[in-house]
Amino acid sequence: MNAEIRMNQVSGDYFDTFNTITSPAPEHILQAALDECAVYNQMLSKFVPGSDVWKINHSSGQPVEINEHTRAVLEMALEMNQASDGAFNIALGPTIGLWHFTDGTAVLPDPAEIKKTLAKADCSQIVLLGNTVRVPEGTEIDLGGIAKGYICDCIADSLRARGVTSALLNFGGNVVTVGNRPDGKAWTIGLQRPSGERGKEFWAAVKSCDSTLVTSGIYERSFHLNGVTYHHILDPRTGWPVQNHILTVTAITKSSLLADAITTALFVLGPEKGLNLAQRYGVSAVYLRDDGKVFYDPDLDIVFVK
Ligand code: AMP
Ligand code: MG
Repeated sequence: MNAEIRMNQVSGDYFDTFNTITSPAPEHILQAALDECAVYNQMLSKFVPGSDVWKINHSSGQPVEINEHTRAVLEMALEMNQASDGAFNIALGPTIGLWHFTDGTAVLPDPAEIKKTLAKADCSQIVLLGNTVRVPEGTEIDLGGIAKGYICDCIADSLRARGVTSALLNFGGNVVTVGNRPDGKAWTIGLQRPSGERGKEFWAAVKSCDSTLVTSGIYERSFHLNGVTYHHILDPRTGWPVQNHILTVTAITKSSLLADAITTALFVLGPEKGLNLAQRYGVSAVYLRDDGKVFYDPDLDIVFVK
């Protein structure tokens, strides 16, 4: 009989989410990898004075020197903007700033203000050359739809470099698996039921080994007003939350950077255009609509929970 393998878990709050790493590796190794989140937060958070993103957002149209990590995130962000016909847009910073999804106030922004900010939300005006980026005066970037994916990849690589061969990273909606479970079988990852208890109720499950699952949904940062759910994924054409009856979409692939960017784009695009975009990137995707209908890549090995 196999002796039970003891799992260790470390956790911490970063990027506005609760992040955990679970693995049979020693706790101090897991903790050292998790602690690196603080370094990435210092670079990529728009709220940290002196971060690369803060510098870009305070650059008044002047070029800004950025490090290789910020560059990697921006490259993918600009590529996804083009690939998704503008659905993924990091230049929505000021528009996002008008919304109150997390402070419990349930107040709608002034439509005239939204219009004004949208005029500056043109990703094609962002120029990335080597390690220098220039954004037009008045444009501000927000990496909330992509940075966590990149950081997950980096932390997973850090675990591998520290000799870890089996681990599960769960950073809010971003899951990354390093190797298989300690018993050699693939990890089983549950997809959160939007209306269910966090981490306890799932509507589907997918196997994962050295891959990532990233979910974008309307249930995390949102408020309700007069029967409408206003959530944090904005339609870049209007500056208002996307209203397409999609509750959640999950992308499954190798790179969490790609998965994070594409999942946000898939949400905005909806199933028809979205599954097409996912296929072009070799990414598996699955959507859940508010009437219970599911749209997904037929090659995806997925089990639905009743
Ligand atoms: P995610 O949970 O990865 O889909 O990211 C949602 C976050 O990305 C939001 O909280 C905003 O910070 C930002 N965001 C909102 N709408 C968009 C969009 N259309 N394109 C890119 N980022 C967005
Ligand atoms: Mg995303």
